[in-house]
Amino acid sequence: MNDKGVFPLDKFCNIDTPFYYYDTALLRKTLCAINKETAKYDNFFVHYAIKANVNPKLLCLIKDSGLGVDCVSGGEIQVALNAGFSADKIVFAGVGKSDKEINLGLDSGILCFNVESVPELEVINQLAEKRGMVANVAFRINPDVGAHTHANITTGLAENKFGISMSDMVGIIEMAKGMANVKFVGLHFHIGSQILEMDDFVALCNRVNELQDKLEGMGISVENINVGGGLGIDYHNPNGALIPNFKAYFETYAKNLKLRKGQTLHFELGRSVVGQCGSLITRVLYVKHGAVKKFAIVDAGFTDLIRPAFYQAYHKIENISNDAALDTYDVVGPICESSDVFVKDYQLNGCHRGDLLAIRSAGAYGEVMASQYNCRELPKGYVTEDL
Ligand SMILES: *Cc1c(COP(=O)(O)O)cnc(C)c1O
Repeated sequence: MNDKGVFPLDKFCNIDTPFYYYDTALLRKTLCAINKETAKYDNFFVHYAIKANVNPKLLCLIKDSGLGVDCVSGGEIQVALNAGFSADKIVFAGVGKSDKEINLGLDSGILCFNVESVPELEVINQLAEKRGMVANVAFRINPDVGAHTHANITTGLAENKFGISMSDMVGIIEMAKGMANVKFVGLHFHIGSQILEMDDFVALCNRVNELQDKLEGMGISVENINVGGGLGIDYHNPNGALIPNFKAYFETYAKNLKLRKGQTLHFELGRSVVGQCGSLITRVLYVKHGAVKKFAIVDAGFTDLIRPAFYQAYHKIENISNDAALDTYDVVGPICESSDVFVKDYQLNGCHRGDLLAIRSAGAYGEVMASQYNCRELPKGYVTEDL
């Protein structure tokens, strides 16, 4: 039973732990798989949700593959521009865009603002007017579609803070049409993250179809539809699914979403692009025999990877230093919080001080969420070519 990932162990020896390791060959294959599927449809465009990972070398590969970017802050717009993405492939979402962020979007000429409220629309119109510009706006509609995922990462329910309610959709479109400095170009949706059931996306398609029928009946035309991201990855068996099932994902939309003539369909994928190519590499500091448990105390904590503590997320962990007989451990970090646990009652090849563990599937929402709590250093990220 050796189903471990493949790591350049000899090179890891010289690097201070904990650190992120990104397998660029896998990222390249993943990007190829996305492009292969979207090439089947001449009107599908993918924007990488840059909040998932901003490592400059990964961004370079993603840019070279032709993807655009989905940003949720001015800082992300700046990072995307610095990485060389062209502004006309950048979309900008978020419920709380500041004036400064909106101005950055306007000045850099981004493709579209995904607007989440009436007051935000008014501010964009005012700021665009001051610059003598017309801003493209799409409205993020809350489709009240649940997704089978963790409660903290479902975003498309009526109770969530995101988007404009369906009953307000027509009103805000009409309002935009009466404004001189915004142009209504599309509808935007994003129902959540780590979604593995294609039926959740089918439900979104059905809702978008209903809304489009309604608008069409009123003589309102829509240039493009953006269905957000959310495709999940297999955290339990990464080696069995290193590349997510993009075929099924894009086919689901091709089959179920009724696009009107000339409409383009935009996607915003984050986790599924970079999730599997990253691992957090950490060293066992101590093996402690507690009263009822054995602890593998490692040098990474939730300051390096917060997903287990934040979302009760599971990450597969492997002892990549040895193949000793399996034993059962709680793998815990050094932070002074009881929630600083990566996994409990977990089978690992026998751990010793100094062993390296790989915490898998950590390429998305890992390094970008790191903090310096306890005055810890931020983890560094290395791609294959750095070593
Ligand atoms: C986070 C986010 C995404 C990406 O979600 P993934 O689950 O990583 O694919 C897409 N669109 C918006 C608006 C987001 O906030």
